[in-house]
Amino acid sequence: MKKGAITLSLAGALALSAVPLNSTVVEAVGNGPGYGGNETINTSILTTYSEMADFLKKQDAKQPQMELEVIGQSVKGRDLYVAKYMSNPENPTILFLTQQHGNEQLTTEGALEFIKHLGTGKMKGVTDNVNILVVPMLNADGAMGDVDFSLDDYVASGDRNLTRYNAVGVDLNRDHIDKIQPETKALHENVMSKYDIDYMIDLHHQGASSERDGELVSGSILYPTTPNADPEVVEGSKKLGAVVFDAVDSTGWGHLGKYRGGDAETISRNGIAVEYGISTLLFEMRGMSDHEYEPYVLGQKSNGYLIKQTITTLESTVRAIADGSIDTQDTSFWDTLAFQQTRETE
Ligand SMILES: [Zn+2]
Repeated sequence: MKKGAITLSLAGALALSAVPLNSTVVEAVGNGPGYGGNETINTSILTTYSEMADFLKKQDAKQPQMELEVIGQSVKGRDLYVAKYMSNPENPTILFLTQQHGNEQLTTEGALEFIKHLGTGKMKGVTDNVNILVVPMLNADGAMGDVDFSLDDYVASGDRNLTRYNAVGVDLNRDHIDKIQPETKALHENVMSKYDIDYMIDLHHQGASSERDGELVSGSILYPTTPNADPEVVEGSKKLGAVVFDAVDSTGWGHLGKYRGGDAETISRNGIAVEYGISTLLFEMRGMSDHEYEPYVLGQKSNGYLIKQTITTLESTVRAIADGSIDTQDTSFWDTLAFQQTRETE
C-alpha cells in the first residue's frame, strides 16, 4: 500500500511503532460486524506459526526431494524456515517469499498448499528441472501478534491479531539494504547469499478496493522499477509477470492490475534485483487478514480464491521455468496493462 512507501529508518520506525499510521477511527473493534457484505473476520481460521512449523516438518519427513532448513530466528525466537527442492545445482532456481508483512497471511496459506502439491503426483517431475525455495511467514512474530506494541485497534476477531510490523515495530520490507532485523538478516545471509537464485516472487496483500478497468482486482503485479536494476534482470521479471498474468487473469476469477510501486531499494522488489541480479516480481493480493484500518481488511469469504490465486501463481511459474517456456514469454502486455486505481469507498 501507498502508506507503506514511507521509508523508515530503524530509529524512526521504533519511534513510530506505537502510533497507528492511519488516523481513521475504527468502530466495533474486534466484533467484525461486516466487511463487503456482512462477512466476519475471524483470524482463528488462519494457520498459526506452530501449525505451519508442524506442517513443514511433516512434509519434510514425507517428501524425499524436500529439505527443510532453519535460516534464523525472529526477534521473539521463532525459527524461520526455508523449504528447499534442489535436485540439480545447474537448474534455474526460484524463490517464493511470503508474509514479510505479518497481516498478509493468505499468501502463506497458498505456499503451504503448494508445498503439499509438490509431494503429490500433481506436480510430478517438475522439480527435476527447476530448483524451488520457499520462505513462508518471514514475519512470524507479526503474524502471531506477538509484538511489543498494542494491537487493540485492529479490526479482526479471533485468537490473535496480525500486524504488518515485526515485534519491534519495523517494516521488514524496508530493511533490505540495512538488514538490521534478525528476519531480514536471516533471509539475506542464509538464502539470498547462499543460493544462485534466478527468480523471486515476493508475495503480499494490499487493500481491498483497488480496481483495473472498473473492476476490483484480485491482485496486482510489478517488476523492479529502480533505474539501477540491470535491464536483462528487469526483462526476466517481466517474463515472470507474463506467466503469472496469463495463468491468473485467464481463470475468470482472477483480474490483475499493474501495481503502483516506488523506486526505493530498501524494498525487496528493487533491492534484491540490484544486489543479487535476481528477476523479482511483486504480487499484491487483494485484501489483508487484519489491520487497524478497516477498508484494508477483506472478508474471509474471499479466502478460497485468494489462496487459489497464490497456488496458481506458484505452480504456473515453476512449470514455465522447468519447461523453459518462460524464456519465450511476450512481455509487451506490460505496456498496455493499466495501473490499478483506488475505488472510492464510503
Ligand atoms: Zn506487504
